[in-house]
Amino acid sequence: MRLALSAILLLASTSAAAQTAPQISVDTLKQVTERLSSDEFEGRAPATAGEEKTLAYLVERFQKAGLKPGNKGSWFQDVPLVEITSQNVTPLSFTGGKTPVSLDYRKDVVIATYQVTPKTVVKDSDVVFVGYGINAPERGWNDYAGVDVKGKTVVILVNDPDWQTQELKGEFGGRAMTYYGRWTYKYEEAARQGAAAAIIVHDTEPAAYGWGVVQSSWTGPQLEQDTPGDHMDQSKAIGWIQQDAAKALFASAGKDYAALLEAAKHKGFKAVPLGVKAQVSFDNTIRRQASKNVVGILPGSERPDEYVLYSAHWDHLGRCDAVNGDDICNGALDNASGTASLIALAEAHAKVGPAKRSLVFLAVTAEESGLLGSKFYAENPVFPLARTVGGVNMDGVNNVGRAKDFVLVGVGKSELEDLVKPFVAAQDRVIVPEPTPERGYYYRSDHFSFAKLGVPMLYGESGEDLRVGGKEAGKKAADDYTEHRYHKPQDQYDPSWNWDGALEDLRIFYGLGRQLAEGTTWPNWYPTAEFRAIRDKSRAGK
Ligand SMILES: [Zn+2]
Repeated sequence: MRLALSAILLLASTSAAAQTAPQISVDTLKQVTERLSSDEFEGRAPATAGEEKTLAYLVERFQKAGLKPGNKGSWFQDVPLVEITSQNVTPLSFTGGKTPVSLDYRKDVVIATYQVTPKTVVKDSDVVFVGYGINAPERGWNDYAGVDVKGKTVVILVNDPDWQTQELKGEFGGRAMTYYGRWTYKYEEAARQGAAAAIIVHDTEPAAYGWGVVQSSWTGPQLEQDTPGDHMDQSKAIGWIQQDAAKALFASAGKDYAALLEAAKHKGFKAVPLGVKAQVSFDNTIRRQASKNVVGILPGSERPDEYVLYSAHWDHLGRCDAVNGDDICNGALDNASGTASLIALAEAHAKVGPAKRSLVFLAVTAEESGLLGSKFYAENPVFPLARTVGGVNMDGVNNVGRAKDFVLVGVGKSELEDLVKPFVAAQDRVIVPEPTPERGYYYRSDHFSFAKLGVPMLYGESGEDLRVGGKEAGKKAADDYTEHRYHKPQDQYDPSWNWDGALEDLRIFYGLGRQLAEGTTWPNWYPTAEFRAIRDKSRAGK
């Protein structure tokens, strides 16, 4: 008896924090989700009355949880935004080929601009097909090699060259999408190369969504960061064309679309001038706005200038297209539930007391407009990124019950994956890679903003293999959400949600965060990850 007791005491004293089950309050999860997703908050669009209410409520909950204001005594970080609405968009036309090609706005083409300017004009711009539009020196790949695209219009394929591979091995991660496959990258690189316009060819499978999604998200008001310089270093026009429109363009230019598509998959591909010129113009209405990130901190007891980060976006779509007379996109799962999780984790950590390193709880704005709040934080960090150990981002929780599996999104990237293993195993669960790595989900929520600037971030969630009902029930629930509620007014809170699976996931996030915060390790990216070089550089210069 005595032996056993002393053994228990020893265990408890050596790793008390890791051994104690965290007190994650399901009441908090329910209350915060219900409140933030109520109609009173009008869908939490940035720079609306819904934002005011959201911020006030988050501060109240952060305070009550025991956090301190994170930004030099303030709970807020101002995030300047600018809204650009393009109107009077002419067709995108191509001349100089066998037959003129004229593409209609919305039907064949969507086009917008990052440049904050009242009028966008692209005229007599030589068109160049640049394959996947990738310049990756570390992979010895440059689709822009030997071609000058300054002032020209580049036509680019979506995803990366080996997306059709079955395995996860290849020049660009095989079937998994690398950042080089994301549309944001394509426009960034085109701008670096000096292109006047950058047009991506839409194809449903490699893009991971249909033309309807492109159409609805690229028309109407577009939010961007409001930065000095008004984005004049970006291309004048950025957009997408339907694949059939691209085929018509290539035919007019006398080029074999299928053959060039194939050539673009191989190293050494040479960009191809199409011998035609592009024209398009439109007017832009500009509205400067401001939104806020909310920053709370539980200061560390021994190394307060080293930080472990939890993040979740508080914003959602606000008023949206009405379904059955309801035009409030409440965003209960997306992401009132993740914000509630952030608060529940803050409470759990505060209850145990400060860790040796500081724990930062960051609720970011404008995720739905392109990860703008997290991007702003990463580019203007309240706490230096070189001293930010790593973190966990939450975007939507499991509300359908306990799962046997735990999905790592963007698997094979960082040593956080090794550290999380014991916490998953302790729940008798298995880690599985995401089922559709070609869709690039790792690049589609806020953790990516930090990852891109080097901070290792974990993004994981319950898989579809449920304890009750198995994979069939899990898949059914996931499909039902995607089809009927995702980004629709039907994403509403329901008291019948089952929080058991979310609680398990949150215990994993608690355990990982606490371990990092009590320890001295600096987990890094694996050598093959896109973000390793920038992290090494950032840490070396700290
Ligand atoms: Zn979300």
